[in-house]
Order: sequence, then structure tokens, then C-alpha cells
Amino acid sequence: MADPMIRLDAQDGDARTGLLTTRRGPVRTPAFMPVGTAGSVKGMFPAELRDMGADIVLANTYHLHVRPGEDLVRRMGGVARFSGWNGPVLTDSGGYQVFSLAERRTIDEDGVTFQDHVEGTRRRLTPERSIAIQEALGADIMMALDDCTGAPSDRALAADAMRRTARWLPRNLAARADAGAALFGIVQGGLFDDLREESLAATAALPFDGVALGGVSVGESREEIRRVVATFGPRLPAGRPRYLMGMGRPEDLVEAVASGFDMFDCVLPTRHGRTAQLFTSRGVLNMRNAKYRDDGRPPDPDCACAVCRTFTRAYLRHLYTTGEMTGPRAGTYHNLFHFQDLMARMRAAIAEGRFAAFRAAFHATLEEGPE
Ligand SMILES: [Zn+2]
Repeated sequence: MADPMIRLDAQDGDARTGLLTTRRGPVRTPAFMPVGTAGSVKGMFPAELRDMGADIVLANTYHLHVRPGEDLVRRMGGVARFSGWNGPVLTDSGGYQVFSLAERRTIDEDGVTFQDHVEGTRRRLTPERSIAIQEALGADIMMALDDCTGAPSDRALAADAMRRTARWLPRNLAARADAGAALFGIVQGGLFDDLREESLAATAALPFDGVALGGVSVGESREEIRRVVATFGPRLPAGRPRYLMGMGRPEDLVEAVASGFDMFDCVLPTRHGRTAQLFTSRGVLNMRNAKYRDDGRPPDPDCACAVCRTFTRAYLRHLYTTGEMTGPRAGTYHNLFHFQDLMARMRAAIAEGRFAAFRAAFHATLEEGPE
């Protein structure tokens, strides 16, 4: 491990704010990474993401490997240049999609064999292969391949997947050829504290640049997952970036920041934006709802984004119900802005030593509910 990747500027309770260094530029933390599944944050231009405060985006290795293939992306200068983003990019290992999307997958000690969900091509992913693909994509932060088969609440399955993940960890590190790209390890173990402990010890002992908490976006028991996040956030290595994978309701982000996490990603703001569900400080509004038919207010009166400054709820409802493409685009834009704004407000609150008050006010407003 080279110099620490993260510089911590302030801490308030367990919450922390600082700056992550990547070869394509700095990332202010806590940071929310918009998800650019196939090298595109659906509906958004790179400059719009920048303007709303995004410093880093996530790209899915599985999707880019299947289409257009990492060799083409490499020839086009890597995913940051290919997509026009030209900033820091984190790639996942591909494992999560292999386990959630691919067909006929079989896992063995060396890796996983599967057929992709597009053309049914037989493919193989191992820790070495995942790192090679992520390097070809030009990732600035890579994720170690983990075994995602474990059901969070099934102890035997969670233990098997966690231990195989632990055996794979050193192989990911040994496979790295691009020293300019950071590599994070992933803590697994489902809902079982002793398994999480074992996984954390194995991951923290190795020279990963950052440590992630995985297997928390599988939605069986939100309360239990929240407990794992609160328990293990403060215990991940303090000198390295702490990444909570795939969890992203605003209230979960606030709680995870309170538990010391630095980085987040989630498809919710983009996916919800496409289905007319807008995040606001008072909860999620469904813009298709008939009650907004002649509502002349902005979608979120507390939001300063271009959508809320331009459109009314009545107009957005009209766009969504008539299938106009501006509807899903506006919803996506607003939601991503809302998330970036939330992160900026948390960074300021931590820096100014008032995060506890911010957290209490955030939850109080949310509980008031939509008007
Ligand atoms: Zn807005």
C-alpha cells in the first residue's frame, strides 16, 4: 500500500469528511457515486453530473465486458475518456451482476462460469480476469472479485461465500498490474457479526487501498442491514476509504455517514427518476399520482435544481403520463442533484462540527412527510 488514499480533514462523532486522491482527480468525501451501468449514467451528460457536484462515477464491469467489450473501451482510451466523463471512475468486479443477471452460473474454487444475459455467450470470471478487465477499462478504483452467492440470513451460505471471498482476496492483489489504479477489498458475512469480524480481519490485514462493506443491498431485512452498517462502519480501517456498496436511500446515507462511511453508490436516484419517483427532503413523491394533476408547485420546494426551478408538479405528471422522454430525464436530474446536495450538506455539517444537529433535523423533516 502506497500513501494513504484518503486525507481526513474533520471528524464529528464517527462521521468524517476529507479528500480522496485518484489519478484522475480528487473526490470530496463523503461522496455519492452516480451509477453509470454501461458507461452511461442513464439520461445524463457528464458536464451535468460535474455541475451538480459529482466527483466520481461508477461503471459496471460486467455490462461493459459484455458490450462493447473491454478491448474496444481500452482502444478508445478507457471508460473515462470513452464516455466523455474524463474524471475518476470506480469499477465493480463484475461479480454482483454475474450472480444477479447471468444465467447457468457455476461457481468453483477458482472462479465462476456463466452465460451472459444478452447473447448467452459462455464466459468465465476469476479474480485475475476481473482485475484484467477492470484495468483494460481504465478504472481508477477497482474492486476485488467476491463471491456474492451467500444469502444474508442463511448462515451456512453466508459463511461459505465469505470464506471463498477471503481466499480470493490475495489473488486480486497479486493480479494487479496497473499500479496507478487503487484496489479495494470487500467485507462479506451477511447478517452474522462473527462472520463479518472474520471477513474484516482478513481484508484489513491485506494492503488494499480501501475497504468496502458488501452484501448490504440485498433487501431482506432493512433493520438488520442497518444494524450491520452501524456496527461495522466505525470498525473498518480508519486510515483507508470506507465504501458502503449499493445502499442509497437518503436516510440510509445519513446514517451510514454517521457510522463513518466515506463512499456510496446506488441505482435508486436514476432508477426512481425513470419511474416518476422523486426524492425530496420530505420523502419520495410519485409524480404520476393524480393529486399532482393541477399542482402548480415545484416538485421539491426546498431544491435549487434546474428541474425544480423550471417545472411544476402538474407539468412533470403530464410528461410522465404521456411518456415524454423529458419526464424520466427531469426526474433523474432532480434525484441525482438531491443526492449530491445531501452529500455537500453533510460534508459542510461535519466540517463545522454540527453533524448531530444536521442528522436530527434531516430525520425530523423526513418524518413530517410530503405536503
Ligand atoms: Zn430539484
